[in-house]
Amino acid sequence: IDHVYKALLCLDIDLYSLEPDSVLEEAWIKEAVKRSGMNYKWAKLKEKEKDKENKDAVKRCPADPALLTPRPPVVTILGHVDHGKTTLLDRLRKTQVAAAEAGGITQHIGAFIVHLPSGEKITFLDTPGHAAFSAMRARGTQVTDIVILVVAAEDGVMKQTIESIQHAKNAQVPIILAINKCDKPEADPERVKKELLAHDVVCEEYGGDVQAIHISALKGENLVALSEATVALAEVLELKADTTGLVEGTIIESRTDKGKGPVTTAIIQRGTLRKGCILVAGQTWARVRLMFDENGKAVDEATPSMPVEIVGWKEVPSAGAEILEVESEQRAHEVVDWRNYAEQQKITKEDMEVIEAKQKEHQEAHRRERDKLGNLNWRARKTILYETNKKTVQRSNQRVESGDKNVLSVIVKGDVDGSVEAILNVLNSYTADECELDVIHFGVGDVSENDINLAEAFKGVIYGFSVNANTFIQQLAAKKGIKIKLHNIIYHLIEDLKDELSNKLPPSV
Ligand code: GDP
Repeated sequence: IDHVYKALLCLDIDLYSLEPDSVLEEAWIKEAVKRSGMNYKWAKLKEKEKDKENKDAVKRCPADPALLTPRPPVVTILGHVDHGKTTLLDRLRKTQVAAAEAGGITQHIGAFIVHLPSGEKITFLDTPGHAAFSAMRARGTQVTDIVILVVAAEDGVMKQTIESIQHAKNAQVPIILAINKCDKPEADPERVKKELLAHDVVCEEYGGDVQAIHISALKGENLVALSEATVALAEVLELKADTTGLVEGTIIESRTDKGKGPVTTAIIQRGTLRKGCILVAGQTWARVRLMFDENGKAVDEATPSMPVEIVGWKEVPSAGAEILEVESEQRAHEVVDWRNYAEQQKITKEDMEVIEAKQKEHQEAHRRERDKLGNLNWRARKTILYETNKKTVQRSNQRVESGDKNVLSVIVKGDVDGSVEAILNVLNSYTADECELDVIHFGVGDVSENDINLAEAFKGVIYGFSVNANTFIQQLAAKKGIKIKLHNIIYHLIEDLKDELSNKLPPSV
């Protein structure tokens, strides 16, 4: 335990990154956590991980088919720049402003509803087309049911028209074609339809199922026909949702409002959102304090397909994030803690920079602590390690000559003395009968040409902890067939090493 604790101190390793295995026993980790007091929260969360309920409680639930009721379609308008998307959205929105109560001020919240005279509703997303669409797709969320593809009748199919078609196809969302600017004398809607055939968008008159509506967004011509076509397609799609149960939705826009604090616009996809609901999204949560529609009017309820502005978030969740209702504030805390923890597990380059900064900050304190704990001071231990290393090199030489296959020669590079020592300590405690581990060289700093040459001579593998290998080195290594394995988490490094060792075993073992 002392051994492990010291190793952890040297590295300032976050304990959540360690998992018990044959090298690191659970008891050691627990004891080390107790002694160090560091990252206690993470270690506790780690325990929670075993509680499966914690993981599953933050997912969408499949709907009960018996409870499904029809819902309005959610539409995204895509198309080439300048083909009239904004004009069309403005027009559609204006039809509503006229219909809205006097004094209603339309504000941009990322989406709005169009109420048709027939009583039908359509939700339009007015976040800038492509970017929002891709962002949601990237997160695996999808709120759009129908894409209205705007193509200017005098311009025809352009680059972003093709991209838009691709977006819709990837998301498996059906298209309605709005051939715009038909008021222009040079407009040629038939040409547009023909050009689209080449992109697998086949209009009804060519035997396909894509409805094409000739419109003028500028003059507001034929917009009713466009809305009707949308409703007709929605009927075919049989869009339904369950208005009961825990609320589910997707954030389409978020911002910080001076007065209201973090504010999001969401499209509700399941359940009925009411004031007081507890929601989680990304790594934050909300107790819904206020809700507004696109006219800035306070609403008490939001049902599926309705865009609604939600006030009450602790922090600003990002657009595209999934909203899920939970039963209690305590549950929300648990879910957010869990997600923070899960996020921490995914250590990225940027995270590493933060961790490295933290490591350096704590290094001195830990060094003092470590020296107090160890019988030997750092210099003395280093000398011993050096001696051991020399012997190992000699042994390795002999082995290479005798062609012994069950030896894994490794070179260990670390960012600081402490990390190298800690890794060597863990490696020293590794024992396996079938395959031996030989450290042929170790040191501080990025992987160098010298390391490559050594690795080549010993047929070794280079392990780096929190160090880099520049392009030249990477290329050199690739040319010579040398493996460079860079890690930022000691546990991953050890796991990798164990994999490498088992590769060395004869197939029969
Ligand atoms: P977006 O980039 O796709 O959002 O395109 P905009 O809505 O900004 O429109 C680009 C230009 O085309 C603007 O000058 C609009 O006034 C004009 N425009 C849009 N729709 C029509 C239309 O139906 N007829 C005509 N003549 N011009 C239009």
